[in-house]
Amino acid sequence: MRWPVDAPVSQAFGSNPTNGIRPGSPDYWIIQQFGNYQPNGHTGVDFSVPIGTPVAAAGSGTVLHEGWMGGTYADNPWWIAPAFAGICVVIDHGSFIGIYGHMSSTSVNKGDFVTEGEVIGLSGNTGGSTGPHLHFEVLPDGWDFNNGMYGRVNPAAFISANAAMGPAGEVTTIPTPTEEDDMFTDNDRAVLTAVSDAIFKGGQSTHKNKSLNNMLGSIWDAIFAGGASMPGGKSLSDILGKVAEAPAVTVDPAALAASIAESIPADLAAQVADELGKRLQGGK
Ligand SMILES: [Zn+2]
Repeated sequence: MRWPVDAPVSQAFGSNPTNGIRPGSPDYWIIQQFGNYQPNGHTGVDFSVPIGTPVAAAGSGTVLHEGWMGGTYADNPWWIAPAFAGICVVIDHGSFIGIYGHMSSTSVNKGDFVTEGEVIGLSGNTGGSTGPHLHFEVLPDGWDFNNGMYGRVNPAAFISANAAMGPAGEVTTIPTPTEEDDMFTDNDRAVLTAVSDAIFKGGQSTHKNKSLNNMLGSIWDAIFAGGASMPGGKSLSDILGKVAEAPAVTVDPAALAASIAESIPADLAAQVADELGKRLQGGK
């Protein structure tokens, strides 16, 4: 068993926990920068490598997935968030599932058997990534999604075990996640979901459009922090400008206002909905 790249670790497993961090918290920047996927800390190991660095299979195994994930994290058996993972490769290494994220391209196909060290693709900066790096995660045999790390464990244990890895085979799981990250209250979730649904009416995935994804986070800031803590001192107007640059979608301002108003003060909801509606419909 080997690390997928020979490079320095830029973010360790378990670092930057976001448990309990909410808008306005001093550590809220972590949410803004890394997303809300890691309430108990980083679920993998990051290696700082330039885009295009060959990524090697950590061990032999069978390719279970390559490329962007579809749907949401709940639509794949490994609970991989598409918007986070970007282009990724998932390999059944026998004693664990290896997940290689934020890649720029893959050179394997689903069903392929790869040997340890074989190049499976090139590193990149896709998905929820703030700079070129490889994100590597391990789901051990018999993983438990409720371990507080979405089932993930520190890959180092497998690396240091060296050669303890068995031949690729069936990896068993406990596919019944009951916990989610806890940064959001139910009401918080309702707000974000309402805004997201309204903008991406029809269930359009955002996983291939990072700017839209980021924009949602900024809208969140604008709503809950009055725009005061927006990165780079951006105004709500700037954020809404990004909406205008988004791919054309149709939105019903009245329905948008209604869905948002269920969760936030009516005057603020109307203001946001009105502005979003105008921007999305080209100023109608
Ligand atoms: Zn990472």
